[in-house]
Amino acid sequence: MFENLQDKLDRAFKVLKGQGTITEINVAETLKEIRKALLDADVNYKTAKTFTDEVKAKALGSNVLTSVSPGQLLTKIMNDELTALMGGEASELDLKSNPTIILIAGLNGAGKTTFTGKLANYLKSKGKKPLLVAGDVYRPAAVEQLKVLAEQVGVPVYANTESKDPVGIAQEGIAEGKKNNNNVIIIDTAGRLSIDESLMAEISEVKAKTNPHEILFVVDAMTGQDAVNTAKVFNDRLDFTGVVLTKLDGDTRGGAALSIKSVVNKPIKFIGTGEKMDALDVFYPDRMASRILGMGDVVSLVERAQQQFDEKEAAELQKKIRKNKFDFNDFYNQIQQIKKMGNMKDLMGMIPGVGKMMKNVDIDDDAFKNIEAIINSMTPFEKANPDSIQQSRRLRIAKGSGTKLEEVSKLIKQFEDMRKVMKQFSNPAAAAQLMKNMP
Ligand code: GDP
Repeated sequence: MFENLQDKLDRAFKVLKGQGTITEINVAETLKEIRKALLDADVNYKTAKTFTDEVKAKALGSNVLTSVSPGQLLTKIMNDELTALMGGEASELDLKSNPTIILIAGLNGAGKTTFTGKLANYLKSKGKKPLLVAGDVYRPAAVEQLKVLAEQVGVPVYANTESKDPVGIAQEGIAEGKKNNNNVIIIDTAGRLSIDESLMAEISEVKAKTNPHEILFVVDAMTGQDAVNTAKVFNDRLDFTGVVLTKLDGDTRGGAALSIKSVVNKPIKFIGTGEKMDALDVFYPDRMASRILGMGDVVSLVERAQQQFDEKEAAELQKKIRKNKFDFNDFYNQIQQIKKMGNMKDLMGMIPGVGKMMKNVDIDDDAFKNIEAIINSMTPFEKANPDSIQQSRRLRIAKGSGTKLEEVSKLIKQFEDMRKVMKQFSNPAAAAQLMKNMP
């Protein structure tokens, strides 16, 4: 996401490279480029202008520190300003009430139903007990879709396909949720292809009769300035509490993420990054800013890794590594962990400096397929005793896994190298030595 904007900002910063100080003259060219980059990313004109004016004032007003270059200083200012533009702090859901009622609104195809499923999944992982209410009375398929997603994530759905009254269904759903002790009730509503009066009237009515604690407006980030305009209309009518930007995994130019807060003054609370139920992230303006600037989102990466990380398991693993007992079973498990962390390309993109390099590389989630096939073709004895895998065994494994002998040998060699490094790192003194030797 945002590769284009990243490239252009990179170019803008290059203008400043080699300059000793920031002056009105040398920063002007860079700011012009930055503004162009923002406009190309589909940020609206007013927002882009205000933004660059702010950056300019900060840049010219800041003390020139000898320890940082003007380019670095400007990057820092840009980072702070982008963060502020997108809302500053992350904005949490208000879940204090029991039950908390959350209304989901947006146009057809924005990703409402998908998000409703994702949100239930997210809240469930936080220990909540959500109920979904299928409020789309126009599309029976939408009710079915919600039921399928709910089953996937293991939460109940309230639906009433006999009724054509969204307000009544919402109220019945809330009563049902209260009866079953659901502490969060998420109401999916009907959309339309475009904004129309009857849709607005209907959702306003649902809002008036259900008093939701959160109203989340779901919008497709790919639609750029249209997303911002739609947000404005919905907000004028519904006074929603937050925005959900979907499809940020696609080829979006990013304008919606950058302009929505400044136009409707409501925070982006979540972003959707894929079709699967776990492709949902809480929106952190600061992390998004550093991502846009190509600084990499190390914090997110670490956090996701931590979510998958089991301390006891890790201690066991450490012990095995120290005793040089790390084997192909452990390796296989590690791969499964990495896969659970999400899409490979996304993960790589979060590592500083890698994002841009990866742009044209096609990594799919099957990157591990061959490795898995090779390991699966090993016998339990071989998995537990990697040293035993000599030529004849390698040949058999290659045949069994539909790979080539060289691939099997390469994997075993890599595995052995990895074991050596891991063993060194498991011994603090040796690890320190290793770090010293690094370039
Ligand atoms: P609704 O009409 O607003 O309920 O929209 P849906 O939830 O049915 O979503 C419309 C389409 O967008 C479906 O094909 C979803 O799988 C897809 N979709 C939803 N969210 C995302 C997302 O974050 N990323 C991607 N790539 N696709 C999404």
